[in-house]
Amino acid sequence: MKAHSLLALALALIAPAALAQRDFANIEIKVLPVAKNIYMLEGSGGNIGVSIGADGNLMVDDQFAPLADKIDAALQKLNPGKLKFLLNTHHHGDHTGGNAAFGAKDATIIAQSNVRKRLAGEANSKKEALPVITFDQSASVYFNGEEIKLLHHGPGHTDGDSIIHFTGANVVHMGDQFFNGGFPFVDLNSGGSVEGYLQTVALVLEKIPADAKIIPGHGKLADVEDLRNFHAMLVETTGLVKQGIASGKSFAELKAAGLPDKFKDYGTGFIKTDRWIETIYQSTTKK
Ligand SMILES: [Zn+2]
Repeated sequence: MKAHSLLALALALIAPAALAQRDFANIEIKVLPVAKNIYMLEGSGGNIGVSIGADGNLMVDDQFAPLADKIDAALQKLNPGKLKFLLNTHHHGDHTGGNAAFGAKDATIIAQSNVRKRLAGEANSKKEALPVITFDQSASVYFNGEEIKLLHHGPGHTDGDSIIHFTGANVVHMGDQFFNGGFPFVDLNSGGSVEGYLQTVALVLEKIPADAKIIPGHGKLADVEDLRNFHAMLVETTGLVKQGIASGKSFAELKAAGLPDKFKDYGTGFIKTDRWIETIYQSTTKK
């Protein structure tokens, strides 16, 4: 009986770690051509953008730490050679988990200043995982024959997001400023803002060419129409909740009222409808 309960305890302790490992072990890195020399990598976590060419390789985001070797192998297959630059769209672990591995191999990590601050402040923070070049509003990397712009538009998904524009290839990596097909996660605890999130998406739509290809932080490879639909959803859903708040409705009442049926599919992903209403409510009322 004693041995049995010890075994059960051991299994309970070991099983979650083993499961997590097996999850990553089963993940394959899929490589999708986006435009010209730009590719999107899908595995587990935020979508990765890659530029390959005569200057070497540049990568945007790097998913989770256990996937670093597989991501590296996918890069080597695309273009054997060095990963010279690694750009982080923001600090979240599903976009920066591989930083330590790639930083240790001498990739130069670049991100908005708040990304470095937040990564440096995490428990077990590693020096190699930190951006070595930071900027407040914008930076450019001239690489593989084009200007790659990093633009920070203020608080949105977090307080350190960058939109990354491959100006020659006509590709935009949105980071988590775009959840294609789902309600967005706005990290209010990391300086995010629903209003800022919406403004950033609107600004990108104003600036980018109509035939640009768009890599969302999460979801399928997108085009400008997909981003427009996402923006329209943001405008309408935040408008409805804000109207409700202005008319004196409580959070419980707003949650009970829900959102129009046409937005049902948006709530089937990471952020459910209730959570989105709650995020809008908190972001609007905390001011
Ligand atoms: Zn994120």
